[in-house]
Amino acid sequence: MPVPAFTRVCTREFGETVLRALIVDDNEDDYEFIVRTLKGAFKGSNVDTYWVQNPDAVNIHQEIHDSDICLIDQNLGGQKGIDLIRTSTENGILTPTILLTGQHSEDIDRLASQSGASDYLVKDQISSTLLNRSIRYAIAQKEHKTKLSEAAYIDGLTGLANRPRFNQALRLAIDSTARSQSHLALFIIDLDDFKIINDTYGHPAGDAVLQEVANRISDVVRRSDIVARLGGDEFAVVLNGYSHEEDIRLIIEKMMAVFDSPVRFGTLIFHFQCSIGIAVLKPGDKKRSADELVRAADGALYKAKQSGKNSFEFFDQHMGEYIDSLAATEADLSNAIGKNELELFFQPKVNAGTMTTSGAEALLRWNRDGPAMGPADFIPIAERSLAILSIGKWVIEQACKHQRELLDRGISVPPVSVNVSPVQVQSESFVEHIKETLAAFDIEPRLIEFEITETVLMEQHKHIIGRIEAVADLGCTWAIDDFGVGYSSLSLLNSIPMSKIKLDKSFVQKMTNCASSRKICSVVTLLAHELELSMVAEGVECQEQVDMLTLMGKDELQGFYYSKPLPFEAYAKLLQEQRIWT
Ligand code: C2E
Ligand code: CA
Ligand code: CA
Repeated sequence: MPVPAFTRVCTREFGETVLRALIVDDNEDDYEFIVRTLKGAFKGSNVDTYWVQNPDAVNIHQEIHDSDICLIDQNLGGQKGIDLIRTSTENGILTPTILLTGQHSEDIDRLASQSGASDYLVKDQISSTLLNRSIRYAIAQKEHKTKLSEAAYIDGLTGLANRPRFNQALRLAIDSTARSQSHLALFIIDLDDFKIINDTYGHPAGDAVLQEVANRISDVVRRSDIVARLGGDEFAVVLNGYSHEEDIRLIIEKMMAVFDSPVRFGTLIFHFQCSIGIAVLKPGDKKRSADELVRAADGALYKAKQSGKNSFEFFDQHMGEYIDSLAATEADLSNAIGKNELELFFQPKVNAGTMTTSGAEALLRWNRDGPAMGPADFIPIAERSLAILSIGKWVIEQACKHQRELLDRGISVPPVSVNVSPVQVQSESFVEHIKETLAAFDIEPRLIEFEITETVLMEQHKHIIGRIEAVADLGCTWAIDDFGVGYSSLSLLNSIPMSKIKLDKSFVQKMTNCASSRKICSVVTLLAHELELSMVAEGVECQEQVDMLTLMGKDELQGFYYSKPLPFEAYAKLLQEQRIWT
């Protein structure tokens, strides 16, 4: 094989730049010998030598990273050169390294190449010619490796670092922060509602947005900071070596501002926002692993999303406990069905004309062996861990089973409404499972109604409309839940097979002392009736609300004023008694 041309050193020879050679050797005489040999090897070239006598006294990985070639002695007092080379290889550092030893050993020869060293030289055999050749080979090899690794470590769509590269870079940054007494910040950035762009306008539009976002994020940070795309619409940034926390705050502000101006794609204009989770390591903080830091930033991101999108959150100490408890809850939830801890409660709905029970909403309860938790808290956790898929199926089966139980007791049974999560509706088996369950319990489809929130319907319309229609075709009905907070388009309302609108309870609760809530309630009722949809008011808590709602022409009323959600037997009893609600 011909020896590759020493292009990098040649260009440096004539330019202003130099070849930076790092020599790690605890013996001064040996260091001087190597410098002399190096000078002889590259006569007339610009070679700058740096000497590290004690690798523990400096940020050695950073030094190796910043050099063009490293000559590392095997016996460095307390540690072995080979271990230094191995850890720098593990940290993704591609700088070529040559291991130097006092005497030849087959074992060291083998271990040197396993550790990632480019070559292995015995000191008293080193000549200028040998060193020149070894360094040229090492650098050429490194360039080849860099090209290969660039392809393997780059996200094809955006040109940013990909996840494996990000993991390596984060580990390196954590090490260097621990030594340099500086701040490190990890941002995990998630675009809010990006799915809508992809689903509505197709992947070319989605890709263009991701590329533009990648450019804008990269423009906000320094070149030495790492920007990565972790997958989908999730990005990460590692800020490393900042002396003041204030610098990080400034970058957050710039990062949020990145999303102020819309992205154009052809004639389309997309406005969007992001949520950012941030974990910071300050000088003196307990050292954390890359995994822990990612989990922390992820936890902060989750909190940012929960507190309303378009915001950022820092990880704090309490969130450490929170993340642990989240993991425990996820695990407990996945066992909840097996441990028989789930139960359906039924909240009656009242027909506003006849004041009879017109149906019930099935609401999930978790009789947990641990801290109590309501569905508003545990359902989102189940959605994240996908436990919602089995829980959702269980809820549908229980709803049908209880309807069957009532029918078998000879009770006149109104429909029961079941809440469904978007993840559930998106699952392949959703429609088939409903069909099978209805058949298994011999339940007429009209006795099961499904509730889906307006927000989900808006965001995922394209994705789920087919399934919604298929379920409606079976004969089950659909209601839009929490209506009024999701800004539905009116045309959408007309194009989906919905039978009912449930006005969000916040409007009902505000209507007695807020004229605009009252107006919204009444306009939505008119609109619903115009579209031949029936109207449910939920969260009804007092007579004053009942009076107003009845006047507006609401069809059904649901709320604590009539009844809290009840265990099955209590619900069966009031149906049996044919309760008239007054
Ligand atoms: P949602 O679908 O809006 O259910 C209505 C919630 O309002 C229920 O809370 C109910 O107990 C409560 N509520 C009823 N009347 C009143 C009232 O007069 N005043 C007030 N302040 N609240 C009232 P719950 O049972 O805690 O459920 C919370 C949410 O959890 C539900 O909101 C629903 O989104 C979700 N959820 C419950 N069960 C399931 C389920 O089986 N599957 C899915 N995917 N989500 C469920
Ligand atoms: Ca509901
Ligand atoms: Ca609701």
